Amino acid sequence: MTDVFMGRLPKGADLVEALNALCAERKITRGTVQCIGALTRARLAFYRQDRFTYAEREVAEPMEIVSGQGNVSIRDGMPFVHLHLVLSDETFRCMGGHALPGCEIFACETVITPLAGPALVRTFDAPTRLPLWEGSWEPAREDS
Ligand code: ZN
Repeated sequence: MTDVFMGRLPKGADLVEALNALCAERKITRGTVQCIGALTRARLAFYRQDRFTYAEREVAEPMEIVSGQGNVSIRDGMPFVHLHLVLSDETFRCMGGHALPGCEIFACETVITPLAGPALVRTFDAPTRLPLWEGSWEPAREDS
């Protein structure tokens, strides 16, 4: 496990790609991600549960990152950051969704907290058709 990263990501970089690169460089395989700041443009997704496909939305205007929350696990053998964003525009209205590559940083303050324990690995989950963590929590049974 490495130290907590608390730092600024560079203007012009792609948010998702920069976070993935940072986790790969620091060998972070399990952890949490927080970020606030601003984007010059954004690209978000919404998973249509009835169709098992993502709807995508391009936002071609400056936005505040009101809240960025995510996690780090392993996908296809590499550290993978799963990030959701709440963004606001200049009228202070918010939108949000799953962050895709295509979110260009204006300024971004980020905290990545590595967590001890075995790496969480994403594999195909048949019921949702999403790459989710292997295994799931099951409620304790009271039949003992
Ligand atoms: Zn998501």
